[in-house]
Amino acid sequence: MIETTGLFPVPVRTPLSEARDVGPEEYVAQDAPDWCAACGHAGVLESLRQACASLGLASKDLLLVAGAGCAGRVPRFFYSYGLSGPAGRALPLAAGARLANPDLCVVALGGDAETLGPGAGHLLHAARSNVDITFILLDNMVQGLAGGLAGPTTMLGHATPSTPDGCVERPLDPASLALVAGATFVARVYAGDGDLAGALIARAIQHRGFSFVHALSPCPAFNAVNTHAWMKERAGVLEDAGQQPSLAAALALALDTEKLWQGVLYETLDVPTCEDADPTICRSGAAVRESLGLSPKEIEELKEELR
Ligand code: SF4
Repeated sequence: MIETTGLFPVPVRTPLSEARDVGPEEYVAQDAPDWCAACGHAGVLESLRQACASLGLASKDLLLVAGAGCAGRVPRFFYSYGLSGPAGRALPLAAGARLANPDLCVVALGGDAETLGPGAGHLLHAARSNVDITFILLDNMVQGLAGGLAGPTTMLGHATPSTPDGCVERPLDPASLALVAGATFVARVYAGDGDLAGALIARAIQHRGFSFVHALSPCPAFNAVNTHAWMKERAGVLEDAGQQPSLAAALALALDTEKLWQGVLYETLDVPTCEDADPTICRSGAAVRESLGLSPKEIEELKEELR
């Protein structure tokens, strides 16, 4: 079903009760992934397809938003609405789209360097606002597209082209940052454990509020330290899907230096979403459905200008 504001068509979300049975192939785009062999991002892409298929999400109801770099290419390979913005800016674009059209299921993605570098402030504010979107941070612990330069999650002592004598800055942990910023759902997945990652991403999408997924996604081309074998060895799976009884317990797990725990570290439904709490949005409804108050002639002129 399509509604219109006069300027452009706005799809109306298909109720989940009417969802068709779909498989992951439903979301295969015309462009095939061109990442390097064994890149973790390909695993995350497949898990995201699995997650959307398990929820029966129609492509027209789904918007993927990414930034730049290797992670920024995910929307190109996924059949849905999608866009890639500037480095680290996926979150404000995603939040804006969701607030304008609450019918959209919005999933944003970003690499570790862009998200925790130029985009760090956006992550904190998206988490504290509890806008109802999902964010997947693809963490390969270097800057892949930049030839393996050190980034915000690079391990202490890791020698890279930009830190030939070893990285001297301590790494940030994405999951604990999201937790302290107020994310109401935080999970960690490993790209090489596709079925588990798909199930956890599906839970993140279903969560009402800001859901954060820390995806361990190796870069075989430019990170010879944090390889698939390295991540596999450390990626423990939390029992009973992992959800912790308190923020403190979740933080302790996120910061465990021995294990990279996979599972839902934390979830709470006690915080209202931005959409539910904001009086302007509550009063006015979806901005995308607001009438522009323009005559047919003015609409045609505006369309022509935007073409
Ligand atoms: S450079 Fe690294 S992150 Fe980028 S596509 Fe190649 S393996 Fe993947």
